[in-house]
Amino acid sequence: MSSSSPRQILDAIIDSWWGSRPQATSGPSFASDPEADKLVKENLFAFLLAASIDRGGNAFALWNIPYRLKQEWGHLDPDRIQVLAPEVLAADPVIAHAPSQISRYQLANTIISLAQVVQTQYGGSPERMLEGSVSDIMDSVQRVFGIGPNIARMIIIQRILYFGLEPERRGRLLPKLDVHVQRVLGCAGLVSAATDESVGQLLADRSMRDVAVIDQACWDIGRRYCRPNNPKCEQCPLAHCCPKIGVASSENGRGPGAEREPRQARKRNRPTFVITTCLPPGVTPEEARKRCVDALAAALAEARARRSDDGASP
Ligand code: SF4
Repeated sequence: MSSSSPRQILDAIIDSWWGSRPQATSGPSFASDPEADKLVKENLFAFLLAASIDRGGNAFALWNIPYRLKQEWGHLDPDRIQVLAPEVLAADPVIAHAPSQISRYQLANTIISLAQVVQTQYGGSPERMLEGSVSDIMDSVQRVFGIGPNIARMIIIQRILYFGLEPERRGRLLPKLDVHVQRVLGCAGLVSAATDESVGQLLADRSMRDVAVIDQACWDIGRRYCRPNNPKCEQCPLAHCCPKIGVASSENGRGPGAEREPRQARKRNRPTFVITTCLPPGVTPEEARKRCVDALAAALAEARARRSDDGASP
């Protein structure tokens, strides 16, 4: 088992990104459609629109949406978008059929809110939302309905790495703690639970650019190698220093290396409780409570008996 220090593991994470980044020549792809990709790279409002609705779902398809809307409307003007009615935008086929895990009403409200914030608070200039320190930018973008700390961090990190943003001070920049980043930081033994506090302490002496790179590298490692089931440790760029290579990675046993009961067996073994709460007329609350307690006790006893039977089976 590796005895690498946290500093060495963090350096390995950073090196993995610099060594493998696909954007070395042509830049990263945000959208699956090349024209949509071009738009979000050239137009900051389009970029912010795509980032603000990237909250679960097919990210590459979601980043096509600014281009699709521009094609349909003939513009992507925040001054005209801000007056749209949410229900009208939610019914637009581009939004109604968006491959998102959030509802079309939330998507519509976020897009309209972004346009309103840009117009009313930043004079129609989305560039002004990204001025000042990290804390200033976090506050600016979180004025938009639906944007929380993680999306705000994602916006800042991508603008730093791919668009040359240089906030005045680091402030409270942390990686976007999504499932991939949390899993890799945990598997690599860098934190026992990836919270703002623990990750903030871990990265306290790192530069903004290092934090941004660590975010992107962990996301990539988590997506490609450090999967919850069947992790590809032998191909992982952290294999030489990860203390949990090939072993269970998290406190609850969920993660690379953890033994899991097959899905069908879990379903079969799940106890079923049926408690009847329909009481005849005239039953006092005290009697009703007693019947509920008795029914629950009986169900628990039955479940225990069933479990001990299962344990005795070959
Ligand atoms: S894939 Fe394996 S080696 Fe890589 S971080 Fe996860 S547990 Fe460690």
